[in-house]
Amino acid sequence: MSATDTPRTEVRCGFCLTLNRIDMTRAGDRPKCGKCDRPILLDRPVKVEADDFQATVLGSEVPVLVDFYADWCGPCRMLAPHLDQVAAQGVGELLVVKLDSDRAPGLSQEYQIRGLPTVLLFHQGKEISRVVGMDPAGIAGLGAQARAAASAGEGVA
Ligand SMILES: [Zn+2]
Repeated sequence: MSATDTPRTEVRCGFCLTLNRIDMTRAGDRPKCGKCDRPILLDRPVKVEADDFQATVLGSEVPVLVDFYADWCGPCRMLAPHLDQVAAQGVGELLVVKLDSDRAPGLSQEYQIRGLPTVLLFHQGKEISRVVGMDPAGIAGLGAQARAAASAGEGVA
């Protein structure tokens, strides 16, 4: 996949579950689902399933933070506001997604998730960094790294 001036990523509509291809340069304009016309909100973490991982995470043309979490995990809930902040600050530059690790055992094994929460940063289909545990400073750093990777990807000095 070649870099373009308009990085795109595929995100599932939270209402009708249709996969939408989003122009990330317009992510701040509240893009709407092509099928049900409801908003796709990218200023907060987006839920993904194992089936979406290829398109939404590996196929994304912007860096993606993937929060491996579980509903029963207290530290995951404590970390959530910090991920919300990274998503809100990085609209158009990066994507933050949440993956319920109980529903994605294959991916948890593939990426060697040994504790929750674990947040992986992907860029151009590869893991480039990860933060394990309830580590707000680590998450802020991951967000900064994602934004740096995004601007490097644009080929702008
Ligand atoms: Zn929809």
